[in-house]
Amino acid sequence: RTYWKLVRRPVGDIAPGDLELVTEALPELAEGQFLLQVIYLSLDPTNRIWMSDMEQYMPPVALGAPMRAGVCGRVIASRKAGVSEGQIMAGLGEWADHIVSDGSFMSPLPQLPGVPLAATYGTLALVGPTAYFGLMDIGQPKAGETLVVSAAAGGVGQIVGQIGKIKGCKVIGIAGGRAKCDYVVNELGFDAAIDYKAEDVGAALDRLAPEGVDINFEQVGGSIMVEVLKRMRIFGRVPLCGLISSYNDVTPTEPPGFWTMMLMRRLTVRGFIVTDFAPRFGESGAALAGWMMGGQLKTRQDIRPGLENALETVKELYSGGNFGKLLIEVSAP
Ligand code: NDP
Repeated sequence: RTYWKLVRRPVGDIAPGDLELVTEALPELAEGQFLLQVIYLSLDPTNRIWMSDMEQYMPPVALGAPMRAGVCGRVIASRKAGVSEGQIMAGLGEWADHIVSDGSFMSPLPQLPGVPLAATYGTLALVGPTAYFGLMDIGQPKAGETLVVSAAAGGVGQIVGQIGKIKGCKVIGIAGGRAKCDYVVNELGFDAAIDYKAEDVGAALDRLAPEGVDINFEQVGGSIMVEVLKRMRIFGRVPLCGLISSYNDVTPTEPPGFWTMMLMRRLTVRGFIVTDFAPRFGESGAALAGWMMGGQLKTRQDIRPGLENALETVKELYSGGNFGKLLIEVSAP
């Protein structure tokens, strides 16, 4: 099998040579294991966190170990009761073309009639539950409220905004570039979008949300976050989902005045990791699948070919080169 192994921890941006592509013989399956042929490798912003030894929510990937990843694949051999050949499974795996698994952190992926596997996986796996629980449980959207979501055209953001619309919110997305902004407004039904690469985010928020912001679904951090926080209404909620603008920082910095702002606005800020909600993935799966089948939830995947391109491709997440949920097609679905 072929897989990517972590050779050294990146300093700043991910660089060639931080990971290495290696090929080895496939191990024999032991009792209780199955062999997964990977179809889609999910490239996620958290990959950069896992490569580092910064404080994080799981052990960092060990040097010399296969790079960890979300994957979806087909079982091609099984010695595990209840797992049969041909079954499509999704869960935590590796940047690899084949994975031997004992089923830990893996579960069958439901197939939705008429929906391509990439869309099912790219919606119902990690990004969908992240959007769903972050917004519903922490954001607690109410009809008529104003919701702002950053990284709006990405995997999580596109879903957050559409759930916000389903719940009757006014939804403002923040994204880089006209194409992404047009997409979330014209295709996904957001009320407005701010192109942070071309516009003054604060001035645009004053114009688009003079009433202030009730929910800031935060994915980016840095100056964009500060501009949104400055416009929060009292008792606002901040699902703190990600801080992608700082993942490559060598010396992370906190924006000034941050805690005063939270106190004065009486904000509820709650960091969360989607796996906190794992016991309730059935609930998010049913809701997301229902909205997809009912035509209320559209999602876009950005599918790139070839496991060998994973290292160059993952870097695009930190510059906005992806448009939609970023997946590598490792083998044909
Ligand atoms: P996306 O598909 O949204 O891709 C990342 C996007 O972030 C890029 O396309 C880019 O969009 C934007 N971005 C990158 N760098 C910057 C920057 N410096 N300033 C502003 N925007 C930037 O990825 P995901 O949907 O997978 O993840 C989005 C966020 O959610 C990340 O912060 C991630 O860590 C977090 N996340 C958290 C989870 C959790 O359990 N808490 C689970 C999954 C994701 P643009 O072109 O608009 O700049």
